[in-house]
Amino acid sequence: MKHVKKSAKLANVCYDIRGPVLQMAKQMEEEGHKIIKLNIGNLAAFGFDSPEEIQQDIIRNLPNAAGYTDSKGIFAARKAIMHYTQQKHIKGVTLEDIYVGNGVSELIVMAMNALLDAGDEVLVPAPDYPLWTAAISLSGGKPVHYLCDEAKGWLPDLNDIRSKINKNTRAIVIINPNNPTGALYPDDLLHEIIDIARQHHLIIYADEVYDKVLYEGVTHTSIASLSEDVLTITFNGLSKNYRSCGYRAGWMVVSGDKRHAKDYIEGLDMLASMRLCANAPGQHGIQTALGGYQSIDDLVTDGGRLRRQRDIAHELINAIPGVSCVKPKAALYMFPRLDPEIYPIKNDQAFIAELLQEEKVLLVQGTGFNWPHPDHFRLVFLPHEDDLKEAIGRVARFLENYRKR
Ligand code: PLP
Repeated sequence: MKHVKKSAKLANVCYDIRGPVLQMAKQMEEEGHKIIKLNIGNLAAFGFDSPEEIQQDIIRNLPNAAGYTDSKGIFAARKAIMHYTQQKHIKGVTLEDIYVGNGVSELIVMAMNALLDAGDEVLVPAPDYPLWTAAISLSGGKPVHYLCDEAKGWLPDLNDIRSKINKNTRAIVIINPNNPTGALYPDDLLHEIIDIARQHHLIIYADEVYDKVLYEGVTHTSIASLSEDVLTITFNGLSKNYRSCGYRAGWMVVSGDKRHAKDYIEGLDMLASMRLCANAPGQHGIQTALGGYQSIDDLVTDGGRLRRQRDIAHELINAIPGVSCVKPKAALYMFPRLDPEIYPIKNDQAFIAELLQEEKVLLVQGTGFNWPHPDHFRLVFLPHEDDLKEAIGRVARFLENYRKR
């Protein structure tokens, strides 16, 4: 047989969170090494159990979940999502505007596939959650990265956004709360993004999968609630707010002026029906989750485990010479900076691989999030306090040796 090559479509597709360094970590585990993993936002794997009531409802409904469902999702789930959009003040959402998917991931790919032709550009934040960039490339479009400003708490740089819009720009992606920076966007910034989108006829894609993982008692505003005209697709799901990544239950909601988007919506409907439906058992958890006790609040408020771990990680990371980090207001991640004067890193993937080999701690390099310079990394603050302290202690030791080179 001839050498089987991967499709040329994959030439610019990259997802480094599960990339070569993770493969190296797996190999090391097979050889018997214990690795502390600060690389993936998988809550359940760190003892953040999904709520019992969601589990019970999925189990109870399992006998009813053996068949295909409506391509857009079961009625009870979509009704609960519709109510959630009302709580978040998103206007005019009907059941038909809601699509349930196998996690937000599937829907991101679907939304990009339905939109993009060769040459179409989509604005994506840098740093980003890299699935967005990958999905745009896979769909034949061109991701164009706008900078988020570390000096301003990682908020998007509006002038950079404006400077990157041209006649091919179709849409802008907003990840709020943000992975990997933990930023939470204020309303005035969201209004300015809406103004830009309105002026240039852009669709807004709003990834809000962490909208309940909020520290400091702050609230989250859905960008879709601030305009009734700009076409906006909002993404959310059970993975993070309800510690249920493995149930693969996510949704997207179309809002704003849909009159000019009939053709696009037809495309979304077709792609949703082509994959028949999202996994049915997971869909049965959605109504219970959205209507039930919001136990994430206990984890993020004062004294809550997630909040404590964020505080510890932030303090310890900032105490390392030459390392600085904006304190996350939301989500599960930090994106610290390594001062290039002190750490002249040329290849941050090699740097992270070296850390893994020497100290058995797994992080993800900043360029894996489409950050343009090799001077950042992402840390997930999910492991228990003791593991977190041990891991950051090892990172500090590695960096101390690095400084002595
Ligand atoms: N969007 C962001 C910003 C994420 O961080 C993640 C997962 O880490 C996802 C989407 C994927 O979520 P899901 O599990 O719903 O596919």
